[in-house]
Amino acid sequence: MQLPAILLDALQNARGFDKNAFERIHASGEQVTSVRLNPLKPPKGITDHPIHQLTRIPWTAYGFYLEERPSFTFDPLFHAGTYYVQEASSMFLEQALKQTVDLSKPLKVLDLCAAPGGKSTHIQSMISKESLLVSNEVIRSRANVLKDNIIKWGCENVVVTNNDPRDFAKTEGYFDVIVVDAPCSGSGLFRRDPDAIAEWSENNVQLCSQRQQRILADVWPALKKNGMLIYSTCSYSKEEDEDIIQWLLQELPVALCPLSFEPSGGIVASGGGYRFWPDKVMGEGFFIACFQKKEGEEELSFKIRNRPEQLNKKEMEIVEKWIKKEGKVFIKHLNTVYAWPELLENEFSFLLEKLRVVYSGILVGELMRDKLVPEHALAMSNSVADSIENIELTKQESIKYLQRKDLQLHTATKGWQLASYNGHPLGWLNVLTNRVNNYYPKELRILKDI
Ligand code: SAM
Repeated sequence: MQLPAILLDALQNARGFDKNAFERIHASGEQVTSVRLNPLKPPKGITDHPIHQLTRIPWTAYGFYLEERPSFTFDPLFHAGTYYVQEASSMFLEQALKQTVDLSKPLKVLDLCAAPGGKSTHIQSMISKESLLVSNEVIRSRANVLKDNIIKWGCENVVVTNNDPRDFAKTEGYFDVIVVDAPCSGSGLFRRDPDAIAEWSENNVQLCSQRQQRILADVWPALKKNGMLIYSTCSYSKEEDEDIIQWLLQELPVALCPLSFEPSGGIVASGGGYRFWPDKVMGEGFFIACFQKKEGEEELSFKIRNRPEQLNKKEMEIVEKWIKKEGKVFIKHLNTVYAWPELLENEFSFLLEKLRVVYSGILVGELMRDKLVPEHALAMSNSVADSIENIELTKQESIKYLQRKDLQLHTATKGWQLASYNGHPLGWLNVLTNRVNNYYPKELRILKDI
């Protein structure tokens, strides 16, 4: 692995940089694999979980190192959304949130650069049920991946949007917390992805630095007075890290918020932010800094002009056979039904008016005449009605199900049921008299054979 000489030279003065150790760890071929568990889908007596030999990641309550990298593709629990495969250093976001925000309060959080959803699923695990997360991604195709991961996580208090940072000017003073996990030159991931080395250039570092400033300036109005801005990158370059802190302090009314951390853990404080070096921590390169906004709108009051259509009584009778309705409102777009948290109805309606919303709450299904055809998202949520049957599949059957192959199942129960593995739903099945229809979404199916 030939690291760019220009980068190594530029890092000479970076805090905590140890050239020999840094080069050695990149040459070693050593890989760190870590996952973060989903508190919405806790283990249910699992015996063959890949996460059975767990070592805790020190800075998070949900993250664990694995001794080796299993095949996540062929683990049904991965597809059930019981965990997210995520690089360990970036889970330090948990400390940034815990130490600077009162997470017991109802919060409005924006994750501005959110695809594929690592930070968003993490934030969702930390905020209260009454809190709202707007998970945004500017690139449409990546917003779809983000949406799939949010669905898989099984939460209901998230709105996925597909907007440019500039569009958030329409939500002035709205958010208590904004996380900007900025697009960057990506040097922090060289060990995991050596191909990224060829794409790295000094010029790109400059371009990224300018883009990071633009993104921060664009989204700035959306943060409430006293709100928190959390900025992170996976770049080692100071132009994208400490220099951005300096720029923010010069250009905007912010105060840096220091974080505390275990001094022996290898994390390095630098220029107001925190550096993660792969030769010092068990994780990849990462940088994070926190700021509080000192001026601006304290609380925006908003009017909702168009409320979405709600279900009528007859439609509600159809839908409530499928989903636990407590604490939810049901809205309709053409024949598509969504469940929203009752407490967040105004917020969701406001966001629907202001932004390009690609997903919100739980997508329940499609009303067709006097029936509901359930959606995959409903199966992945924790809200399926208790009266709906579950078929527990073996690991082999689960993989066949996830490949969208035909299944031979011996069950007396007919009709729509949840296909589950170790008690965790994977999706829908419809059992007919002489065959079983597999409703796992085509676009999500496993394409490989074991
Ligand atoms: N936060 C994500 C996670 O934890 O899974 C990773 C985000 S990645 C570092 C940065 C994201 O910013 C990418 O998804 C990229 O598409 C998006 N992006 C690229 N250009 C952007 C721009 N001009 N404004 C906002 N986001 C941008």
